[in-house]
This record gives sequence, structure tokens and C-alpha cells, in this order.
Amino acid sequence: MKKLALYWQILIGMLSGVLLGLILSQFEWGSPFVQNWIKPFGNIFINSLKLIAIPLILGSLIKGVSDLKDISQLSKIGLKTISLYIATTLVAVSVGLLIVNIIVPGQHISEETRTELISEYAGEATQKQMDAQQKREEGPLQALENIVPENIFGASADNTNMLQVIFFAIFFGIGMILIPEENAKPVKEFFDSFNSVILKLIDLIMLAAPFGVFALLATLVTEAPSGDLFVALGMYAFSVLLGLATMIVFYMLIVWLVTKRTPGYFIKGIAPAQLLGFSTSSSAATLPVTMERVEDHLGVDKGIASFVLPIGATINMDGTSLYQAVAAVFIAQAFGMHLTLTAQLGIIVTATLASIGSAAIPGAGMVMLVIVLAQAGIPEAGLALIFAIDRPLDMCRTTVNLTGDAAVAMIVAKTEGKLK
Ligand code: ASP
Repeated sequence: MKKLALYWQILIGMLSGVLLGLILSQFEWGSPFVQNWIKPFGNIFINSLKLIAIPLILGSLIKGVSDLKDISQLSKIGLKTISLYIATTLVAVSVGLLIVNIIVPGQHISEETRTELISEYAGEATQKQMDAQQKREEGPLQALENIVPENIFGASADNTNMLQVIFFAIFFGIGMILIPEENAKPVKEFFDSFNSVILKLIDLIMLAAPFGVFALLATLVTEAPSGDLFVALGMYAFSVLLGLATMIVFYMLIVWLVTKRTPGYFIKGIAPAQLLGFSTSSSAATLPVTMERVEDHLGVDKGIASFVLPIGATINMDGTSLYQAVAAVFIAQAFGMHLTLTAQLGIIVTATLASIGSAAIPGAGMVMLVIVLAQAGIPEAGLALIFAIDRPLDMCRTTVNLTGDAAVAMIVAKTEGKLK
């Protein structure tokens, strides 16, 4: 029998997880059962993905950079990558603002629902505000300072320091380019083979993916809040989802225009990573799979993918920036505030920066949303309004985040003549 394609296997795992979650939530013992016997397997799956994120970045980026012939090639690709990332993020925020101004989801929230939501989620919202406070107290150059670690082992010991590990890997790779080739050879061979081992580990973990997503989704469904809130927030969720769907179409179009690869080819190639991003809500955890798909199924040269994708996973979050723009304006609308054009232009800037600063982990976009709200003078307590529905939207925006990275990787590869 022909083996089912990976995305079908993952999709079946997801659907069975949702189904089981729905069935078990009907019983009183269902939720504790899932907590004790199913959730741990989801956690094991996510942990194993996170486990290889740092070694993968180190290995593949050092190899990627050292494969380049000279520093000018590195700076050319680097500049192109960063410019494309910023450009796609600006498109995403603008799409979000356009949609939220046309649909005006905030006007569908009644006074009653607003009070109910705020009293129910005030606690969680305060927690996010506190997390954001820490970020806000940092000086303007703090983000730049944070990129350079003082100890590489310390930096690699924490998955949230991905940018520091990326910095070290690029720096190390530059050192390798600058020394005579025969001196760099042993180190290069070591990282080549280190890389192959890590890629094999990803293959092995992917064998468990259908079961992993099954456990993740079953848990999520039993932990979800009541359905009534979803209805109240329906128009807001619809606005975010419409924006995210528009971005997917946008990626398919630019990939098609620049690389001449059809939308079907692009989506089929990236689908397993998208499904995994959706199930884990973390671009960082999905990174190993995104890399594998982009290299082996979308034809992007390994050197380009291993440079463009880890950076993208950390700084390019189009879905997150779009969501932040929509959420900020939605909260303003729900509080009856009128946002001037200048305030909305301000949101374009802050949402772009906030998405760059968001960590590639579940719920990070919401922490940075606080900063967007504060900048635009929108009540931060409004976070409580959108809390109930944040997780499902997080799943969708994470999917868009990694799809954007893949699209940019293909475009960079094509323009560098490195697309197979
Ligand atoms: N979960 C998202 C990601 O990992 C970030 C966010 O919360 O928007 O890409």
C-alpha cells in the first residue's frame, strides 16, 4: 500500500485529537484523564522539537555561512533577507489595519459582554501586562545589546535566546571564511557531519508527529473556554482570520511571480510545517521541520535556507504583526475610542517592531501587543477582551509566520540562483 503523505497523517492526527477531546469533555473524568494520560505525550513531542532547535541553528548556520565564498556575498544575502522580512511585515500590518477598519468588529461587542470579559480575564491580562512592563523598561538600544551574548554556552542553554545563538553562529562562520581554507576544513567537516545527524533526528521526530499533534489538540480542546465567548468575539476572530488568509494568498502570489512555482507546489511543500505550527503555536519549535520542508521539498539551497529561516523564525512574524494591528484597533473600537490616521500609522510602526521583538513561542505576540496598545494610548485592560480566543488565533498566526519565512527563503534562493 502506498504510504499516506505526511500532511495527511498529521491532519488525521489533529482531527482525531479534536474528536477525542470533544468526546472526553462530555465526561467529568475526561479532562483529568487527558491531563494525566494524553497531555504528557504532547509535551514530550514539543520538547523533542525544541531540544534540537539550538543545535540545529548552530550546526546549519555555521555551515551555511562558511559555505559562502566571501563576506560580500554574506552581506548581500543578509541585506536582501532583512529587507524582504520588513517589507512582508509592513504588508501584513497594513492588511490587518485595512480589514479591521472595514469590518469594525469592535462595534459588535455589547456593553454587557465587555464587562463580563473584563471581569473574567482581568487576572490573565494583568499577568501579560507585567511581562510587558519588563520589556518596556528597557532602553531603546537594549534589543540590540541583547543580541550579543556574553557566554555562548549560557545563551544556548535557553531557547528564548535564539537571536544570540544566531549571532554567534554567523560570527563563527565569518571567522571560518576568513581563515585559509585548509585550516577551516576540519571544523567545516565536523559541522557538516553534525548537521547530518541533526537532520536525521528531525526525520525521527517527524515519525511521531501525527501522534504528537493528536495529543496536543486533544489537550487543547478539553482546556478550551466555553463556546459563548467565541460567538461574542466572532467578528474579531473573523477579521484576524481573513487577514491571515489574505497573507497566505499574498505569499502564494509572490512566490509564483518571482519563482514561477505554482501555489499548489508551494502549499504542498510547506503543509506539514504549517500543520505543526498550527498544533504547537510555536515557530521556534517548528523550525526544524520548516527547514527540512523548504530544503527538501521546495528546492531551496541548504546554505540559503539555513541562513534565512532561523532568522525568520525569530524576527519575521507577519501573522503576529497583523494580529497585533487588528487586536489593537478592535480594543479601541470596543472601548468607543476613535483612532486618528496618525495613531494608526503609529500602529504600523509599533506592530512591526513588536512582532520582531516577539519570541517564537505560544502567546508571545500578546505580551508585545501590550506595548502596541500603550503606544497608541489604548486601554491595556482591553487585553482581557481578547484573551478567551487568543490561543486558536495564535495557532493560525504561527502558521502564517512560518509560511512567510518559507516564501522569503524561496525568493532569496531564486534571486541568488539557488533554487532547484
Ligand atoms: N506563537 C507565535 C509564534 O511562535 C508568536 C505569537 O504569539 O504571535 O510564531
